[in-house]
This record gives sequence, C-alpha cells and structure tokens, in this order.
Amino acid sequence: MNPTLTIDLTAIRRNWRALDTLSGASQTGAAVKANAYGLGLGPVARALHAEGCRTFFVATLDEGIALRGVLPDATIHILNGVVGDGAAEARAQGLQPCLNSPRQVAAWRDAGGGPCALQIDTDMARLGVQPADLPRLVEQEAQTLAQATLIMSHLATADEPDHPLNEAQKAAFERRLARLRPAMPDARASLGATGGTLLGPRFHYDLVRCGIGLYGGMPFADAAPVVTLRVPIIQIREVAAGAAVGYGASWTATRPSRIATLPLGYADGFHRALSNTTHVYIDGKPAPLAGRVSMDLLTVDVTDHPGVTDADTVEIIGPSRGIDALAHDAGTIGYELLTALGTRYERRYKGA
Ligand SMILES: *Cc1c(COP(=O)(O)O)cnc(C)c1O
Repeated sequence: MNPTLTIDLTAIRRNWRALDTLSGASQTGAAVKANAYGLGLGPVARALHAEGCRTFFVATLDEGIALRGVLPDATIHILNGVVGDGAAEARAQGLQPCLNSPRQVAAWRDAGGGPCALQIDTDMARLGVQPADLPRLVEQEAQTLAQATLIMSHLATADEPDHPLNEAQKAAFERRLARLRPAMPDARASLGATGGTLLGPRFHYDLVRCGIGLYGGMPFADAAPVVTLRVPIIQIREVAAGAAVGYGASWTATRPSRIATLPLGYADGFHRALSNTTHVYIDGKPAPLAGRVSMDLLTVDVTDHPGVTDADTVEIIGPSRGIDALAHDAGTIGYELLTALGTRYERRYKGA
C-alpha cells in the first residue's frame, strides 16, 4: 500500500450544507484557494457546486483560471486582485478580481472594467482599500465601482467570539458600506469567513465565504471530518537499550526497542517540528515518534505494539486524531497542516 490521503467529498458537501443552514438567508460561498486547502481544486469545487455553491474565492489569477476550467458558470473572485496583463486575462476568463487598492481599480478600468468585487480594509491592515482612499475612488472611479457585484472585508479575530475587534470591524464595515452604497447600489456585502459565519446572523450580510469549516477544521467544531491519512510501515528493526535513532541521534532507546520506519516526512507536510513530540496511531493506540522527522521518513517506537509487522499500516490523520490535534502538536493550525500536505500521496476521493 502507498501512503494514502483519503478525501471525503460527501463530508465536504455535508459541511457546506451545515454552514449554509447556519448562514440562513445569506448565501454561502466557498474559499478554494491553495488547491482547495491542499485537498484538490477540481474534485472539491465540483462537489461544492453539485451541493449548490455558486460563489468561489481563490487567491491568485492562476487559481482562478484553473477553477474556470472546472466550473464554466460559477462566480469566481480573485482575493489578491490583479494588475496589468492580469486584469485583461481575468476579464477574458470572466473572473471577478477583488480590487484592493487604487492601482488595482485603475488596472481593472484600463482593462475595460466589468463585474468585480471591492475589498475594503476594516482595521485588519492586511489587504483591501484603505479608508483614506475611499472618497477619491468613489469620486473618480464611479463607473468602475458601479459594476462591482460585491463589497467585502475580512475579520481578523472571528475565531475568538469575545474579541472586541469583531464588533469594531463590523462597525467600521457598516460605516464604509453606507459611504459606498450610493455608488455601488447592486453590490452584495460580505464580511465573514467560517469564523464570521459562526459569530451569528449579525455578521452574515449577503454572503459568507467559508473555507476551513468545509474541510473539517476549527473553528467549526461541528464539522464532519474530511481527511484520512494512512501510511504503511516499510521496515521494522530491533534496537538495543542505549542505541540512538535518526538524524542528530536525538532519541535514545531506554530499553530494548522496536522501531518502525514510515515513508512520510517533512516533504509530505509532516512538520519537522513534530520530531519526538507526537504519536501515530496503530489500531487506535498511540505509538510515539522516536527521533527526528526526515524529509521522506519517520521513525516510531512500536515496542508496545508487539503484534505489528512491516505489512501493517498506521493512521496519521483519521478517527483517532483529527487535523487540529496534529496541527496543535506541530505548533500550528489546521489550515497550515492541510495546505502543506504535499503531492506524493495516493489521493482517493470518497463520494462525489
Ligand atoms: C481564506 C479566506 C476566507 C476563508 O476563510 P476560512 O477561515 O478558511 O473560512 C474568506 N475570506 C478571505 C478574504 C480569505 O482570505
């Protein structure tokens, strides 16, 4: 058996349906940037579209072009926006860039304009038109802005429901919406991602933009799990008490031990920071890492699993441990774990 990443498309559809129910009257768009959070743009986008999703968000023009090839009719927004030739190309592909700055608005106008989104910054200070630039844009780019289908902003702390910045950003969004509305009468409004959807109806506006919740990650605690990762054992060896294992000799056997070697490493997104700190699961029972994670290999102490052989497989992500628990051990978040998964697995899609 090869290392196998199983992606449950039925679970993704169920998660979209659950978030769409939570978002009530507002529509539920999907963030499928970074290859649908590492899970495969084509299969994931097709599954979401089949469930009823019609608005999609990618980060880059290339991602938008790839998605257009999958979904000829969907509304596709490019979060990072476009300039120069990119604007012309996006327009030719029927993609709607999020215009994030006066320069991007001008580039869209020069390419001929058309349906697009306007992203405004509400005190996250990352991406989007800054408040000081809004009056001049409304005055000088009225024709371009009038064609926008969406006015959006992004919450910085939506995964912390009690954080005061959520209400402050919402208030800033509404102040700027009021200023933009006369110039952009047809645009829908959108503020929340998965976290914002969970904050409740006051944060939903016309459209929510869900990513991680679709893929089974926090902060959507009720998400159906989507990803299973199983890898074979490729070799087992006996080592004596006192023997060291792996690069840097960072793990030493304190008793006669059995070490299993797995074909999984940091090139596959199994972070090197997990060295000596986490477990894999054998028949639901944890077996600790022994030694450093290498590029392509991992060593595990299976001394307490006497029945295990080099014909067995182990669970890395699955029923015993989800993506957020493994991400926590690596000092990161489910988002980074998924997008780092790498390309060497045999990928199996369940459902459709
Ligand atoms: C990635 C992203 C989303 C989706 O966020 P999740 O937290 O994964 O739901 C929504 N909006 C913007 C602007 C994003 O960058």
